[in-house]
Amino acid sequence: MLTAKYTKAQLAHLPTPLELMPNLTKKFKGPNIYIKRDDATGLAFGGNKVRQLEYYVGRAMDLNADALLTTGAVQSNHVRQTVAAARKMGWHVEVQLEHRVDTHSKEYQESGNPYLNRLMGAKIHTYDVGEDEQGADKAMYDRAAQLKDEGYNPFVIPLSATDQTPWGSLGYVECVEELYLQSQATGLKIDAIVLGSGSANTHAGVMAGVIALGLDIPVYGFCVRRDQDAQTERVEVKTRKVLKMLDVDENKLKPGMVKCSDWVLAPGYGVPSAKVVEAIHTTAFEEGILLDPTYTGKAMCGLIGMIENGELTESQNVVFIHTGGTPSLFGYPELVEGK
Ligand SMILES: *Cc1c(COP(=O)(O)O)cnc(C)c1O
Repeated sequence: MLTAKYTKAQLAHLPTPLELMPNLTKKFKGPNIYIKRDDATGLAFGGNKVRQLEYYVGRAMDLNADALLTTGAVQSNHVRQTVAAARKMGWHVEVQLEHRVDTHSKEYQESGNPYLNRLMGAKIHTYDVGEDEQGADKAMYDRAAQLKDEGYNPFVIPLSATDQTPWGSLGYVECVEELYLQSQATGLKIDAIVLGSGSANTHAGVMAGVIALGLDIPVYGFCVRRDQDAQTERVEVKTRKVLKMLDVDENKLKPGMVKCSDWVLAPGYGVPSAKVVEAIHTTAFEEGILLDPTYTGKAMCGLIGMIENGELTESQNVVFIHTGGTPSLFGYPELVEGK
């Protein structure tokens, strides 16, 4: 395993299934659409952060931590999975919910992920400026300093890209190894990977895994938080960090290898366009697979766009990484009420 030298907590149900989506494939008359079911990683409704947390918590174990802190949007899946990971470890946990989405619907504020945070008994703080990543991180570090005074040994999982060691990306290096073994076992030739790109831990981990294994598979990231230029830069910086962590030459990441597209982002973080809502409905109707309005719905909308533009063709096999997020559906009842 490429990540063998790093401590890892056992939190996820792995390997996750790799499945063909036959009905969606048939409907779009394009490539065979496979789905890597990382919505099924198991811990408290699963999702991609469980793989990431295995390595964040592993790092925290190395440092003898006994408390986890992190920050995210009100409907953050990362926050919910962090709370669950801390509970599984028997650790103290405090989370901060940022005001990022301008909705005052009761469901957005209270149902889905925030409901689950409360169910698991997390101590919850709030942060008013959703676009101030560094300020949000700083508030958590300040709180961690107080917890230290109270006798805890806290570990903060930051979200901003600066100064961060992307431990979580190691989980997605591992995901690529898993995918590679699954494709070998079934004789599947993977021609492209599609995913949602947010903090970029997932995107950078997959990129680094593909490079480290010497695979020639393009990875298409659809932006969920910032524009494609900013996101490309973020993914590149992180991928180089991850390659270094793996002792792989960082210059194997060539200009142009990181592909980010932001047309699915509008109107903004956590708000789906009509086309994104349509992609969620189509996937639910055709496959009984649930996508979310902030991440996977946007990534699927991007994938459908690629097929419609002829960027992926009939003889190809594309793998869509389902990164989870399904509990947040309960924060968006308008997705069906509006129909
Ligand atoms: C966080 C998240 C993403 C984005 O992953 P990053 O590693 O932050 O880029 C995608 N999908 C879901 C459901 C998420 O919760």
